[in-house]
Amino acid sequence: MTKHVKEVIELLDHEYGLFTEPTLDYTQPHELLIATILSAQCTDARVNIVTKDLFKTYPDIKSFAEADLSELEDAIRTCGFYHAKAVHIIECCARLHEYFNDEVPSSIEDLTSLSGVGRKTANVVRTHVFHIPSIVVDTHVKRISSKLGLTRETEPVKIEFDLMKKLPEDHWSAINLQLITLGRTICTARNPKCSECFLQKVCPAGKKVLSKASK
Ligand code: SF4
Repeated sequence: MTKHVKEVIELLDHEYGLFTEPTLDYTQPHELLIATILSAQCTDARVNIVTKDLFKTYPDIKSFAEADLSELEDAIRTCGFYHAKAVHIIECCARLHEYFNDEVPSSIEDLTSLSGVGRKTANVVRTHVFHIPSIVVDTHVKRISSKLGLTRETEPVKIEFDLMKKLPEDHWSAINLQLITLGRTICTARNPKCSECFLQKVCPAGKKVLSKASK
């Protein structure tokens, strides 16, 4: 691990701790899978409101697999992209029912064979359901890992593999939640608050912003 990576993760750990609890509500593994599919282009808070009733209406994988498309669309409408998400959920659960004995698999290959499930969603499930160290590259991780100089890669899959090389394995699952928290509060996409940021002294992008502001 380089000195720079060590400094960054020590500051993140000090500020946020090594927490790994997801912000999506679920009790069964397939519920986290469905909640993560719903969370694309939607807030976790909105997804949690929708899934509160959704998981009562459709209590298991089979009931999602057999759901009426327009009824499911109505139930998830407020999450946005409801038609595509409803199709993915029905197809995903039909495959889980038919080929996986109503159980969510743990391998990346099996998870990404499911409709609507890419590496990001697969890694969310692996992290939280199976406790397999995994790096979830979402929009916050993509943006902030670059700003912090943790990676020069720009594609999510390359970022994931690069960060796996650079970060200690016991930080793989936490880095996503730490950077999401940072991205929602301080290092926002539109207006990063570098002058208030606890990473200011170790962040190349932050240093540049501050030196421009002081000229
Ligand atoms: S110093 Fe600025 S750019 Fe760097 S992580 Fe903090 S807010 Fe983001």
